[in-house]
Amino acid sequence: VDTAGVGGWRNARLEAYGPIAMDPAAAVLHYGQEIFEGMKAYRHADGSIWTFRPEANAARLNRSAARLALPQLPEDVFLESLRQLVAADQEWVPTREGESLYLRPFMIATEAFLGVRPAREVSYRVIASPAANYFGGELAPVSIWVSREYARAGRGGTGAAKCGGNYAASLAAQLEAEAHGCKQVLFLDQFNNNAVEELGGMNVFFVFKDGTLVTPALSGTILEGITRSSIIQLAKDRGLEVQERTITLDEWRDGVGNGDIAEVFACGTAAVITPIGELKDGDEVISAPNPSAGEVTMSIREQLLGIQTGKVEDPHGWMTRLV
Ligand code: PMP
Repeated sequence: VDTAGVGGWRNARLEAYGPIAMDPAAAVLHYGQEIFEGMKAYRHADGSIWTFRPEANAARLNRSAARLALPQLPEDVFLESLRQLVAADQEWVPTREGESLYLRPFMIATEAFLGVRPAREVSYRVIASPAANYFGGELAPVSIWVSREYARAGRGGTGAAKCGGNYAASLAAQLEAEAHGCKQVLFLDQFNNNAVEELGGMNVFFVFKDGTLVTPALSGTILEGITRSSIIQLAKDRGLEVQERTITLDEWRDGVGNGDIAEVFACGTAAVITPIGELKDGDEVISAPNPSAGEVTMSIREQLLGIQTGKVEDPHGWMTRLV
């Protein structure tokens, strides 16, 4: 769908996948006025196709839109875009266990001008791509590089929005991580005692030996992951205590050292839940205590994957049928 300012959303249509024609002065190309979402469509055993908490993605898209001075997209337009695309692409929704169709809704400023101001012409689209297991092959603990040089977000910035600019800013740190043999970057709040923020594309959880889960609080500089909030709910359902609070790199290091922290995992739509193995901070290597298969990590992972793939009960009505 497109909008021309006051006119609202119009021109809803299904198009064959292909290049988008745009004016070279389109605002998105110069000022990065762009937001997106990441979701998955899962085929259940009876052939029906479902997605996980799409209302939460619609709400987050609209929070991102507000931050990037883009227009709000009604939830029903968002849900209908997913339904129509997945209905048209049904044969691309994999049947193999653990695979899904990744959905990428996005909104871009298409109006052509060169001054700096919010665009009045905007386009919202959704594309899809079959997705295998995020890290390839079986579940392996992910190695993490601590970014000391680069921050991902600052107070008052766009860290809580899912906008392309955040990812552009994270790429140099990602290259650095790869040069040190790590898969993902850990971003810190360097102005707050090196508080742990998040990975390049995932939120982080700690399981303490008494069963308490700790995850960084939503301070405005991290993305409010939908997987994160689902894990908080599932953990509370189990009677586990969940603390959303500041946790510093020192607390991580000390907790792993003295055994207070039993498990560390990362979570997001792409990987769902993955244990964190090695954590590299310059030359120092802080290893996770039980990197391969922490009990709480694996049990919540199994439940969440089970809900998404339709194999276990969905106690909160999180799944929405698309086809
Ligand atoms: N943080 C960042 C920076 C991300 O890109 C993502 C992936 N969207 C997440 C966290 C996890 O969010 P979600 O669980 O909604 O996928």
